[in-house]
Amino acid sequence: MLTTGRCNLSCKYCWGSFPPAIVPWEVQYELEDLRLLVESDPDAVVAFYGGEPLLNPEFIRMVMDNVRARRFVIQTNGILVRSLEPEYWRRFDAVLLSIDGVREVTDFYRGRGVYDSVLASAKWLRRVGFSGDLIARMALSERGDVYRDVTHLLELGLFDHVHWQLDVVWSDGWEDFDGWARRYKEGLSRLVDLWIDEARRGRVLGIVPILGVLRVRLFGGGFRLPCGAGRDAFAISTDGRILACPIAVQESWAVVGRVGWVRGPEELRDSVLIGEPCTSCPYYRYCGGRCLYAYRERMWGDEGFRKVCELTRHLIDEVLGVAPEVEELLQAGVIRRREVDYPGFNNTTEIIP
Ligand code: SF4
Ligand code: SF4
Repeated sequence: MLTTGRCNLSCKYCWGSFPPAIVPWEVQYELEDLRLLVESDPDAVVAFYGGEPLLNPEFIRMVMDNVRARRFVIQTNGILVRSLEPEYWRRFDAVLLSIDGVREVTDFYRGRGVYDSVLASAKWLRRVGFSGDLIARMALSERGDVYRDVTHLLELGLFDHVHWQLDVVWSDGWEDFDGWARRYKEGLSRLVDLWIDEARRGRVLGIVPILGVLRVRLFGGGFRLPCGAGRDAFAISTDGRILACPIAVQESWAVVGRVGWVRGPEELRDSVLIGEPCTSCPYYRYCGGRCLYAYRERMWGDEGFRKVCELTRHLIDEVLGVAPEVEELLQAGVIRRREVDYPGFNNTTEIIP
């Protein structure tokens, strides 16, 4: 649910607010229509998104007070957490705070002082009693180092999980993508080594892409886009349009309905699906096509698409390489299924970066 198209930051990956003509800065549809739609699905997960969702805390309160959903999630840049009262925060199942890793990287891409603000917000959320899943949501770009930044965020001891998205959709600011990709793959290998080392000691690191791939390998599922976009996850824009993906606000292929017109989830399910080359790809079981938006838009062309696939395949290969040992560790009771079987519901981490 986009609560507004407005944002209080202007990060280098996405340039801040949506123009109000594309994503209005206020919600324009009837709450009652939204209530009927959400409550038609007994398993509905409501995730607040924007713009910056906390620029419209009234709407969040209104939804949480009036709409029955199985779970509530929010993705926020973390600057304005105090605009929502603790009693609402305590009702969230997952809170995703945007932070890219170490201070220099976060502040370079998101703005000076953002890193400190996000950490202060994470501490405040815990202080006021938020006990759900606190997820660091990174955007990983050229200045980012996956090993350094993920381990840094884990070592802070504030976040339960760390997830990252690659800045490979819109950004044309890369100077040396191929060189960075080589380093990224090395970093992924080191992260998987670290993960299995810690698992041997009985500690499960909350690295979402590793857990998400392991989950499919060990517990089944897969063969679908992990974020669910267009299949069983939809974004409701502030103007009431229902979109296959929350960033596809201008693309006609993504518009699948409208609040007030759609009566239930069955009318939306499987509206926009991934096709070839993904469905014949040997990695499809785990990758699921990675990202519907990137698949449809190919803003980096087919060659760029393939370059990103290389990164995905490396991640999957590395994780599958340790899966047999993870199985043994589970059987021996060194680690527990409830720590590895993650995420338990679509908490908006897309699994495949
Ligand atoms: S690795 Fe590439 S081709 Fe294969 S499923 Fe993923 S996105 Fe599609
Ligand atoms: S991973 Fe891609 S398709 Fe899925 S929600 Fe994110 S941008 Fe949309």
